[in-house]
Amino acid sequence: MDNRASEETDQQRERRAERCKAYYERNKAAILAQRKVSRAANAGIIAIQRKSYRAANRQQISESNRSYKEQHRMELLEGNRVYRCVHSEQLAEAKHAYNVAHKEDNARCNRTWRESHKAEKSSYERAYRGVHLEELLERNRLYHREHRDEILPKCHAYREANRNIIAERQRVWRATSRGIEVVREHGHARRAREHQATGYGYTTSALIEARHEVWGHRCYICGKQETKEDRLQTDHVKPLIKGGPHFPCNLRPICPSCNASKRDKWPYALAYGKGGK
Ligand SMILES: [Zn+2]
Repeated sequence: MDNRASEETDQQRERRAERCKAYYERNKAAILAQRKVSRAANAGIIAIQRKSYRAANRQQISESNRSYKEQHRMELLEGNRVYRCVHSEQLAEAKHAYNVAHKEDNARCNRTWRESHKAEKSSYERAYRGVHLEELLERNRLYHREHRDEILPKCHAYREANRNIIAERQRVWRATSRGIEVVREHGHARRAREHQATGYGYTTSALIEARHEVWGHRCYICGKQETKEDRLQTDHVKPLIKGGPHFPCNLRPICPSCNASKRDKWPYALAYGKGGK
């Protein structure tokens, strides 16, 4: 065989290769079918061979996979993307089926992950909320609008059943420095924005705090002193709804009960007999 090959001239070899190629082209379908049959018949042996080859050449294989992936990174990513687009329905179905079949495993796995990545998760969520705040709020608003009839009775029932717990929880939260800040800043900023008040974006929680300081942390109507348990609120002396500005000059500390009875009345309008309306 070696002899014959070495005796073969280049021309002969070329001609033989051409004949082989022509034979292959003519009988391609039959050859491929035959290969398929043979592979199917020897599937067990082939699998064993492959497995032992992989076991023997593990490092070499993973090295060559890695270098292939590095060299063809963009192609592979693009290929994946295309595949996912084309097979999006099958993939979604498969994923759903997998999730249904592994529901308990998934839940356990998620729980474990959440417990061991608490800090990471909450910082990620904070960052996400920071970036997507408007989207999230809009999504919530939309959801509430669409499901109003389901949500409201549920909320109402929950509030009725848990009145004390809720009040206590709110009291505790409002007494935290974050709570104080949020109640003052967000409450007013939100209303200020709603009424497109002048001063929106200017008046920070620090400026509001300064106004409370000016009034000695006493309710400007009844004089009640603020304590750790009874926090004062901030009143727009001329209500936002009547066109009052959200500027420090229009803000004063007020106790909850005075605030509740004043609501959106404007003391100056009252004094001048305009009924505050
Ligand atoms: Zn008061």
